[in-house]
Formats: sequence, C-alpha cells, structure tokens
Amino acid sequence: MTGAWRLFVPGRRHLSRVGARAGGLPSPPGPCPFCPGNEREADRVVAVRAGSGFRVRSFRNRFPLVSGASSPPPPSAHSVPAGGHHEVIVESDLHDVDLVDLEPAAMAAVFLMYRDRAAFIASREGVAAVNLFRNRGKRAGSSQPHPHAQVLGSVVPGPAQQLRAAQTESLGRALLTNALEQAGPRLLRERDQLVALTPYAPTHNYETWITLRDPKTTFADESDETVTRFAIFAQEILRAVVAASRRDYNLVFRLPVQTLARDPRAFWYLEVAPRGGSGAGFELSSGMSVVTTMPEVAAEEIRAALTSPT
Ligand SMILES: [Zn+2]
Repeated sequence: MTGAWRLFVPGRRHLSRVGARAGGLPSPPGPCPFCPGNEREADRVVAVRAGSGFRVRSFRNRFPLVSGASSPPPPSAHSVPAGGHHEVIVESDLHDVDLVDLEPAAMAAVFLMYRDRAAFIASREGVAAVNLFRNRGKRAGSSQPHPHAQVLGSVVPGPAQQLRAAQTESLGRALLTNALEQAGPRLLRERDQLVALTPYAPTHNYETWITLRDPKTTFADESDETVTRFAIFAQEILRAVVAASRRDYNLVFRLPVQTLARDPRAFWYLEVAPRGGSGAGFELSSGMSVVTTMPEVAAEEIRAALTSPT
C-alpha cells in the first residue's frame, strides 16, 4: 500500500512482549549483560576506548536487527534477506549512570566511539544506510538500564531516510541554513559554531536538534577535535532537555544515506526525541504527530534548565 519496507526480526520477539505504559528505566531479570565480566564469548567485543577512570566498549548485538552478508535489493524486489551489521556501544563500566553524568573525557570518548563504529559499519559491503541511536527509558524502547547506544548498517534505508535523501538532493544544505537562520526564539544555545534549537515543526514535544553551523557530510567525517567539542556541548543540551521534558528519550543521529555519504550537499545532525508515549488512532490514520508543547515554549523551558544551577 505504501511501498515502504518492513524489517522482520522474529529472534527479538521476547524483547517486545512487554508494552511500556509507564516510563522510567527497565528492570530486566538476570545479571546485566553490559556490566564488566558478564560478556559472553558470542558477544565479541570489537572495539574499546579507555582513559583514566572510564572505558567504552562496542559489542556485536546479541539480538541483531540485521546480520550477515547481503546486497541492496534490485528495484523490483519485494523481499530481501535482512543483511547488515548491528553493534551495541556500552558507554560506561558503571551500571547506574546516564550520558549526562559522565566526565567530559568520558563523554568525548563515547562520541568518538560512535563516530568510529559508524565509519566502520558504513564501510561494510552492501550497507545502504547507517543508523546510530540511543534508547533511554522504557518509553524510548530501552530493554537494559546500563547506558548504551546502538549502531547498525542495513541494506535498505527506511522511508524517513529515503525522504530526507530526496529533500537533500533537491535542496541540499539550504535545509539546514534555513533551519538555523529562522530559529529565532527557538535557539537554545550557540558556541564556537555549535548550535542547538527546537525545530519549527517537531515530531515530539521538546524535540531538540544539535548541530554545527557547517557540518561535514556525515558524522564519520568529523575530526577528533570537533567530535570532542560537540560531545561536551551535546551533553549540556541533553541534560537541559531531560530536566525540562522529564521524559524518556531517544538520541538519533540523522545521517545521510550511503549514496549521499560523499555528496557535499548532504549533512548530519543530532536529534533528541523525548518520548511521552505512543500515539493513538488519529496519529495512525493521519500519519501526523500531535504536539502539545509549542517548540517556542519548549525552548524557553530548556533554556531555563540550561542556565539554572544543578
Ligand atoms: Zn550493567
């Protein structure tokens, strides 16, 4: 009916049985698979970044959304093996922290690991799109409370990624320039080419975008120095968004699809999506989001949280 692809992953059925009516952190049974010492042989740590008092590890996902070799489908295909790569980035050895609690060096190490694993996955054969995201809290789809993010490369881009690719090809960076120029009362903070704002037409209440004035085409292209500055800035903004929205949230890196990954018209940005619960029949029937906190109001509250002492 829509031409959009669906991803079938029966191996994750046990992870989706419990609906998230209430927010907050999940409490799954058994030992935490991400605490040091609980790694299984099959998990295969593929990368580690460590410094004084912190360590960031990337694992193969035990229940991957996509796995194995595959090629992008021919245009007429109706189905294709769900090939690709899916890793979990465990952001700290500590179980009871969130990104907002990390020391600056640890925060930078997390974002450098995000960048490096996104670059690695983008380089894998057959990968058409890279997804880099973080779920925090049950309403954001989190099944483990230990702080972690996920990065995967799939052979088929999702409809949102295809739509953005089409917009980027026709309008390019004018999309980003306009969003920044018109931010006005929705501007949250700006420093050294780093910018945070609430978008004109958000999907979620308190939705926030964090970007650079002139980002590289994709996150994997950014230098150590830029990623480090960006990580510290993103942490300040995230802390304020969480304080103002009091909600579970997703972090989503909006990355260009691989066909645009070398195209100077394309660009990346980071989205914070607070999650207050899924929509109802109206959202399903119309495909529209209902936003009850105007982005100008959200911006005021987030700015207040930025400036107030914690
Ligand atoms: Zn843990």
